[in-house]
Amino acid sequence: MSSDGPTLDDGPGHTHGHGPGHGHSHGPASDHGHGPASDHSHRHPLTAGQESHAHAKERDRSSGEPAPADGPGHQFDLPVLPEAVDVFDTTLRDGSQQEGLSLTVDDKLRVAEQLDHLGVTFIEGGWPGANPKDAEFFARAPAELTLGTATLVAFGSTRRAGVRAEDDETLRHLVEAGTPAVCIVAKSSEMHVVEALRTSLDEAVAMVADSVAFLRSNDLRVFLDAEHFFDGFKANAAFSTRILRAAEEEGAEALVLCDTNGGTLPHEVERIVASVYGGFESQVGVHFHNDSGCAVANSLAAVAAGATHVQGCVNGYGERAGNADLSATIPDLSLKLNVRTIPAERIERLTPVAHHIAELVNIPPNPQQPFVGASVFAHKAGLHTSAIARRSDAYEHLSPELVGNGTRFVVSEMAGRSTLALKAAELGLELDSAAMSSVLDSLKRLEHEGYHFEVADGSLELLLRSSTGWEQQYFELESYRVIADHSASRATEATVKVFVGTERIVATAEGNGPVNALDGAVRAAMGSRYPSLADIHLVDYRVRVLDSAKGTGSVTRVLIDSTDGDRTWTTIGVSEDIIEASWQALADSIVYGLLRAGVPAGA
Ligand SMILES: [Zn+2]
Repeated sequence: MSSDGPTLDDGPGHTHGHGPGHGHSHGPASDHGHGPASDHSHRHPLTAGQESHAHAKERDRSSGEPAPADGPGHQFDLPVLPEAVDVFDTTLRDGSQQEGLSLTVDDKLRVAEQLDHLGVTFIEGGWPGANPKDAEFFARAPAELTLGTATLVAFGSTRRAGVRAEDDETLRHLVEAGTPAVCIVAKSSEMHVVEALRTSLDEAVAMVADSVAFLRSNDLRVFLDAEHFFDGFKANAAFSTRILRAAEEEGAEALVLCDTNGGTLPHEVERIVASVYGGFESQVGVHFHNDSGCAVANSLAAVAAGATHVQGCVNGYGERAGNADLSATIPDLSLKLNVRTIPAERIERLTPVAHHIAELVNIPPNPQQPFVGASVFAHKAGLHTSAIARRSDAYEHLSPELVGNGTRFVVSEMAGRSTLALKAAELGLELDSAAMSSVLDSLKRLEHEGYHFEVADGSLELLLRSSTGWEQQYFELESYRVIADHSASRATEATVKVFVGTERIVATAEGNGPVNALDGAVRAAMGSRYPSLADIHLVDYRVRVLDSAKGTGSVTRVLIDSTDGDRTWTTIGVSEDIIEASWQALADSIVYGLLRAGVPAGA
């Protein structure tokens, strides 16, 4: 059934009011006569989002409007945008549901460090009751994870139907996780209670009340993830509201409305969040999935309607279409709507942190990802580049430096002098007119041979540098040799002979293919002279066979993506011989990486 306004039923017990006093102990901070929100202020400093929520409620009360009616659906004004929201990252829990994403405990600790470095308010670390890996994460976190700004949160569910909270295993795991805060999921849609849980609506409400009360009595801060809330609210608002009411009455800190199937649209979000905001004293949070392509838009709509707690994942990881991408939600809120999220001076960490986390979870970053993608401030030759040279806001929605990204001019054989000059300026190189002509000639010749510099920023930079007379001095190749072996191990062996300074070094390595073996041999030869090589990793290797322009044979193009953890660069090699093409791309990758690390030649 669907209902509007006065038919809402807040369920048994509600006539006692919002305050505690249902016979449950809320600990020493319990204070009669105040709403649940004020309970928490005694226990821990309010987060920025909670303070903002309190201000907004204060404003609503003093604006002469009638006090919020008891239940959603009554008249209310849309609140002005809050001053701040709390950013709750769930990469380590919900994000890890993504197909192909698998994290070791070490990886999880490193991701948490990055999220803290970024400055999110809460990091959901995992589900300690559901898998041993997450239990180990919470066991190791106190000793191995030092958090500066973030609070670690353990995830779980309410007690099971028909089980006492103190006997429930999931709740016990949550207490044992040892975090200051926990987030529990509860079914808040009638259909899911009846069909999936196969229990009564009253028992579903009791499961929430008992679980929140139990966790609060164990001195834990509690967030309630109301699963399938938006769909449930549309079908039976009264029941979905009872779930929230039970959590609020027992002292949950934030009521988090989840769009679990990701099908809700912004105009529905605005209406439903505003309704909940108007009917409750507690902080309202939201959790969106991106199945309709609206997760970020929905998060913004929710904040405009009063939500001050926003969940999501850096890079939008998550099952199916993913969770709301915090790499976009954060700058949209902070830079466009002037709502505080992470500390202002850390917003420029967004791009490096997003790429670093992509590296840790071992999923190549999406170049078209808003704000942080490698291509999203890249401009191709022609009208755009000359216009953008005059006015940077001509084709950019904001200054890329604000989010730690940068304007990039994409150079190809189509490039004119102006594009090339911009690219050189971007790299801090001065090209005189002779150098410029020589680069343009080289570009045209090389692209004709099959090079494609538009995608190979690393090799392009080396080409531009060499046009100024620069030569890499890190090593000089004498020779390399690759032997593919058809023995049982199928290992490929590579030997390289190089000079570093005046020293001649010969090294051999095995690998699972020519690039891997060559890479191993280069590292074996030069690793001790250039320790920074240890930070440079090859992340992708692509081979494409091109038809030769002359039709006499095929040419192979090799692209290698490398990273030092912060930035990823691409280098290229082209030859009729795949090993030679691979060597060119590999050598460029290493030279570029050492150059980026500021390593002096011959060190
Ligand atoms: Zn989710």
